[in-house]
Amino acid sequence: MSHLLEHFSIQLDDLKQQGNFRQFTTNIQQGRYIQINDRNMLNLASNDYLGLNADLQLREQFFDETPNDQRWMSSTSSRLLTGNFPEYEQLEESLSQAFHGRAALLFNSGYHMNIGILPALADSKTLILADKLIHASMIDGIRLSTAKYVRYRHNDLAHLTQLLQKYHEDEAYDRIIVVTESIFSMDGDETDLAELVRIKKQFAKVMLYVDEAHAIGVRGEQGLGCAEQYGVIDDIDLLVGTFGKAIASVGGYLMCHAIIRDYLINAMRPLIFSTAQPPICMAWTNFIFQKILNLNPQRQHLHTMSQMLQQNVQTKGFDCPSTSHIVPVIIGASTQTVEKAKTLQDAGFYIMPVRPPTVPQHRSRLRVSLTAQITHTDLDQLTQLL
Ligand SMILES: *Cc1c(COP(=O)(O)O)cnc(C)c1O
Repeated sequence: MSHLLEHFSIQLDDLKQQGNFRQFTTNIQQGRYIQINDRNMLNLASNDYLGLNADLQLREQFFDETPNDQRWMSSTSSRLLTGNFPEYEQLEESLSQAFHGRAALLFNSGYHMNIGILPALADSKTLILADKLIHASMIDGIRLSTAKYVRYRHNDLAHLTQLLQKYHEDEAYDRIIVVTESIFSMDGDETDLAELVRIKKQFAKVMLYVDEAHAIGVRGEQGLGCAEQYGVIDDIDLLVGTFGKAIASVGGYLMCHAIIRDYLINAMRPLIFSTAQPPICMAWTNFIFQKILNLNPQRQHLHTMSQMLQQNVQTKGFDCPSTSHIVPVIIGASTQTVEKAKTLQDAGFYIMPVRPPTVPQHRSRLRVSLTAQITHTDLDQLTQLL
């Protein structure tokens, strides 16, 4: 092996020794089930929270409604060049209508969105205050910006208020952007958005940036997220989310003021310098988005099942911070967690273990991700195995 390769090979050996080596597995999905290494299991690691990606009838209906001459498989360009097909504007119009007339802007993925918006908006006169547990994509966005940033303790809005009091009158900053998620991906807990908005209104320099990746489709009467559920759609300056989870498609969106939208079109590098998504994806996202507005029964069912599992996990004596469909079973030690996950997988439940560095030391966990396709029987069986 060459010296150049040997360096990387040693790093990989270290990962293997720590039990942290990752590799792809072939996943064959069918309905609620996933097949890995010839074993068929109930998929409890899915982000398809409403089961729409698994729904063959929806797919059939979409292609029936979309003639071949409208099935553009590529945009072949950025939207600022020749790539701005009508499908983009139709989807933005749908989003805008649902979100009280606010402006909508689309991105190739949630990751693109989070690494692009913050560097475009936040200059050296900006301070970013971010929850300790925000997603890696927002951390990367913050790092790409020239802003100073400070983390506040997870979901600790009193700590956030202290920091705002400390920095708000500081003349070094013209703007403060508070960055958080609504539902958090590892603990399944959520930010009190009504309280966050109340705090923001006390500080004139503050803009709120809230990522609804795990809440869009799942929360609110129409599935517009926690912002709809708590009645704060108009109060969150930068309301973002992904189409890659409950919406069963791909891409990211921002709801904001029209001025911010125009500014980002002129300043956001991942938007300007990357080929826009295939128009057929936009058409599919719009098709699904119209559906989710009316899926309240599925949301209710998911909510009921989630509450039951949270309770069961606690009754079994595990720590469980969740208030959502993402239900961690916190075990503690990594080896025990991996063994438990294997036992569950052997019994037909595909649940993944999550270990440091993704979560803090001694907080290893099974991460159960429920979808609207879960039944009472599934939950009973799963609970017994815990
Ligand atoms: C999944 C996720 C993203 C990334 O979205 P993609 O569309 O998958 O790139 C961003 N933020 C959060 C909180 C997420 O969970």
